[in-house]
Amino acid sequence: MKKVLFLLLAISIIGCKKSDRKVVVVLKPEVKLYQLVGGSILVKKLEVFSQDTTYTSQKKQFTNAYYVISHPKGNIMWDAGLPEELVMETPFDEPSGVYAVKRPDSLVNQLKSIGFKVEDFKYFAMSHSHFDHTGHANYMKDATWIVQENEYNSVVGDSATDRNSVLETLRNVKKITGDHDVFDDGTVVIKYMPGHTIGHQVLYVEVAGLKKPVLLTGDLYHFEENRINKGVPSFNYDVKQTLESMDAFEVFAKEKNAEVIIQHSPVAFEKLEKLLKK
Ligand SMILES: [Zn+2]
Repeated sequence: MKKVLFLLLAISIIGCKKSDRKVVVVLKPEVKLYQLVGGSILVKKLEVFSQDTTYTSQKKQFTNAYYVISHPKGNIMWDAGLPEELVMETPFDEPSGVYAVKRPDSLVNQLKSIGFKVEDFKYFAMSHSHFDHTGHANYMKDATWIVQENEYNSVVGDSATDRNSVLETLRNVKKITGDHDVFDDGTVVIKYMPGHTIGHQVLYVEVAGLKKPVLLTGDLYHFEENRINKGVPSFNYDVKQTLESMDAFEVFAKEKNAEVIIQHSPVAFEKLEKLLKK
């Protein structure tokens, strides 16, 4: 993947009188974004992605992207794909009969392909804690896991309702409530968008050299039709909350004129790949 090496210069002119005018040059940090494939998911019963019969008898191929964001103050990984046990030739048919899943390669090999190592990460965050987003999370034990407090309580600890043993290996935890500006400069911002899970979140990234900021959806939407239909998966934590998050997401995306990337969409993966190669 071609690295983006542009520096963004934001120039603003302040002052009222001509003679008082000063030119202030704000140097934006050089933020780079890389996407990697953490798995492929064949959905054999697409109806689970709606509250009604919209998708009955349909199938759909999902991708399962995860992301590396490089900032001068440190690197952050967003999401963690499927578990490495699923690096196999033939997709695994999981017991519910809904999904056939596999992962193309290990984290170490995939990071190597873009010039990174496991120990290069200061921060780690996930859109949410479902199985297809926590796969290699255990490798991030030296990074600081940034997580919504309610999501943390739902997956870690004795009283957790959806206990996740992979996440229990993470010891450096920063619990947040609501939005979080990771580097305090507005370039990488976690946005709280609950409903898919109790503490689901999406990620806003201002990538150097791209005309528009990138907005990674997590699993707020799984495919393009559901963004149009406002389809809410049958397994979501809260339907009303999901719909409210979708509304908030669309307002934010419009306000920022963002490039929306649906993380499970192969179409969106290709779109972002082209943008990052420019
Ligand atoms: Zn997912």
